[in-house]
Amino acid sequence: MEPSAAVVASLKMSEKCGSGSQFASAFAGEIHGRERPRAGPFYREEMTLEHTGIAPDPRYAYPRPPFQAQQQEVPGDTREMDPRPDHGESSYVGSGRLRGRRALITGADSGIGRAVAIAFAREGADVALTFLPQEAEEGEEVVRLAVDAGVTVAAFVGDISEEEFSRQLVDRAAEALGGLDVLAFVAGTMPTIDGIERFETETLDRVLRTNVHSLFWITQAALPHLQPGSTIVTTSSQQGFHPSPSLVEYAVSKAGIVNWTRAMSGQLIERGIRVNGVAPGPIWTPLQPSSVPNEKIEHFGEEAPVGRPGQPAELASAYVFLASQESSYVTGETIAVTGGTVLH
Ligand code: NAD
Ligand code: MG
Repeated sequence: MEPSAAVVASLKMSEKCGSGSQFASAFAGEIHGRERPRAGPFYREEMTLEHTGIAPDPRYAYPRPPFQAQQQEVPGDTREMDPRPDHGESSYVGSGRLRGRRALITGADSGIGRAVAIAFAREGADVALTFLPQEAEEGEEVVRLAVDAGVTVAAFVGDISEEEFSRQLVDRAAEALGGLDVLAFVAGTMPTIDGIERFETETLDRVLRTNVHSLFWITQAALPHLQPGSTIVTTSSQQGFHPSPSLVEYAVSKAGIVNWTRAMSGQLIERGIRVNGVAPGPIWTPLQPSSVPNEKIEHFGEEAPVGRPGQPAELASAYVFLASQESSYVTGETIAVTGGTVLH
């Protein structure tokens, strides 16, 4: 099958971004040479390490609402967000937990996917990253961050709601990295539709193709590459358990991902492959200002028991745990990272 235009573009980008094993040799020195920074910025002067003991108070470790009103077009851009999200750029320190793994991460340009890409690369995984064409500039920033970790990086630009792109992506990623051991499904779309009068079949189709169908396409295409010990990590949502009225289409897709994770774990453990998921609560990413109305953004995350939204950096370790050998006795599970809202 001929590569699509999107794949050709992505291959050019991977060449430009330095895909290849030449970065691998720098890995050990890069990771272990870093000084460990303290965990996350502080937003109340009185909340210092001296006052809190060994770790900052989770309620004040990151910005709290109210936030500035801000709206963006889908898919949103990190650089227009106020405050800027934290993806662990200056805090995540790896310790070889994914050394030698080859991971495909969807939606890696921004938000949770960017934090996962940084963490996986700093843990020693070679990474294949995907993003949409409109996100190429942000995507290049993430490629540079991953390359800085000293691993092999390949970037692919395209739309995972298209079956052909999703399937070809797998083979191209495996080709670029020399195989695949980890699939981290992070990409997702979340339209807000506040009434059944505004329901459109096309919107539901797009949500399901992006959030759910792509898991089937990519996993099926990846099977020939995945060996026993490989891992799959999905991204569902608090919405998959406690849906908001204006997010019906999204909530249906996210509940579907929880069940996909459970059922697929049963199928794939027969091959020695584990399948788990992460269910984020309200997280400060471009998905939010590009999908929810301003009045909600100003108070975003307030309802979480910690009283603030999570930052992408606070999700990364859950993905690392589920992707790595450390979770060897865990499969079919979805871990809630919700700031205290109990899901199950
Ligand atoms: P984000 O906007 O930074 O990331 C989502 C990414 O999905 C985009 O950057 C884009 O690259 C990708 N994407 C969307 N449609 C795509 C398509 N058709 N083809 C290819 N890529 C596509 O936002 P985020 O919050 O980091 O979202 C990551 C995941 O986390 C999503 O699955 C989202 O549903 C989930 N999630 C987010 C929150 C939250 O509050 N931010 C809460 C629960 C779950
Ligand atoms: Mg994005």
